[in-house]
Amino acid sequence: MTDCIFCKMVKREINPDVVFENDEVLAFRDIHPKAPVHVLVIPKRHIETLDELDDQTLAGELLLSARRVAGQLGLSKGYRVAINCKSAGGQEVYHLHLHILGGRQLTWPPG
Ligand code: 5GP
Ligand code: ZN
Repeated sequence: MTDCIFCKMVKREINPDVVFENDEVLAFRDIHPKAPVHVLVIPKRHIETLDELDDQTLAGELLLSARRVAGQLGLSKGYRVAINCKSAGGQEVYHLHLHILGGRQLTWPPG
């Protein structure tokens, strides 16, 4: 996907503020943070939405990477991992990503 902003980050055509990376996933700080800590974890491979995720190993890698990043960033009091799926779910960037939000008290449910 040549015009996908997150694919451009994987290829470093755009340089994100990376907090974790391995062969399968990249985690970087959100440009418009909604909490003191707001990191996005993405698969390096272009997958549009959660509905297109069919690789169980990658699904596990994404979730465990989110937990690892939360630990790395000191969110021992707690945090939230969220996936917005398609328009009604509030998804704006159509490259699958997990939001990690923390560093303040979060409320439930989200708007
Ligand atoms: P969504 O609404 O699709 O679940 O979330 C997309 C997220 O990507 C938003 O929180 C938005 O701030 C973030 N975002 C959009 N463009 C960029 C960018 O160029 N760089 C970074 N770091 N985050 C971005
Ligand atoms: Zn992409």
